Amino acid sequence: MDIARPPDLWTLDNFPIVIAGPCSAESEEQVLRTARQLAKIPEVKVFRSGLWKPRTRPGTFEGVGEKGMQWLEKVKAETGLMTTVEVARPEHVELALKHGIDILWLGARTVVNPFVVQELAEAMKGVSVTVMVKNPIIPDLKLWIGALERVNTAGIRQLLAVHRGFHYFKKSPFRNAPMWEIPIELKRLVPQLPIIVDPSHICGRRDLLQEISQKAVDLEMDGLMLEVHENPEAALTDAAQQITPDVLNTLLNNLILRKRTGSPAFENRLEALRTEIDKLDGEMLQILAKRLEIIDEIGDYKRDNNITILQMKRWAGIITDRLSIGTNLGLDEQFLKKLLNLIHKESIQRQTKIFNKK
Ligand code: PEP
Ligand code: MN
Repeated sequence: MDIARPPDLWTLDNFPIVIAGPCSAESEEQVLRTARQLAKIPEVKVFRSGLWKPRTRPGTFEGVGEKGMQWLEKVKAETGLMTTVEVARPEHVELALKHGIDILWLGARTVVNPFVVQELAEAMKGVSVTVMVKNPIIPDLKLWIGALERVNTAGIRQLLAVHRGFHYFKKSPFRNAPMWEIPIELKRLVPQLPIIVDPSHICGRRDLLQEISQKAVDLEMDGLMLEVHENPEAALTDAAQQITPDVLNTLLNNLILRKRTGSPAFENRLEALRTEIDKLDGEMLQILAKRLEIIDEIGDYKRDNNITILQMKRWAGIITDRLSIGTNLGLDEQFLKKLLNLIHKESIQRQTKIFNKK
């Protein structure tokens, strides 16, 4: 992807950009009062606000729509903050551009639908605007990248990804499971793409925001988008996850920023330790390959003698024995169980292949 960093966003050295504002614009006063307070926080660069809200069920507050555009124009004129809104229909794109919105964002429900993403991308063709693409609700990295590519192909170079967590069927304290491995993999595949983390939609509740914001910073994510409301309890949408501007200020002040690189002595020592890790990983993989070779031999032997693959007693014995060895070596029991199961699964698969070859 041909991506350029929007130059006006990262003006503070070593600090992630902060995008803040209410989940939804509710009234002109609410928008302006919140923006005035946010403008006093130096880290806040962009004011966010939803005008068209994708609600799960009809009959709830669905946003103020077009009339909110004028409020955002006032925010920009009065505070100098940049503005961003969610666009879900080509008409929204048109209106946002007409009213000088600086950044458009595609929401998690939109990004699951390539038809809609394509329509939005086409509405942006030839326009110089910054666009943020949230991850789709489901944990599908390809779908996320696909949406980014559609927007990029339409000529949008100032592109950002927003990590807002993923729907997950297991019980978790989060509204949307962070599954950090997915944004990390996105960073590996598209290193030049900035990733903003949206702790509000990951957490779904105020008390977890600090922890997730810190995690985002520790993982070298490029920014934070947080929902801020002058009176969170009374918010018409996402009340449980919004915070006041004051609480945001405290949250940002409490963030521990770590340096990305250290002194030459530090870098040398780190390099030496990493070399050791590389060597150990190599040895570990060779041992693993050797183990699986022997598994294949056992597979052949069992097949030739008409013996079943899964030998429960042997497997139970392995678990007990390896857990005892591993925990004595200081390895975590849950980790060991996962690792042993993974190796066992692979062993069974290889033997099954051998059995089917017959
Ligand atoms: C939002 O940012 O208010 C929003 C609707 O988010 P998401 O698309 O991530 O659910
Ligand atoms: Mn919201």
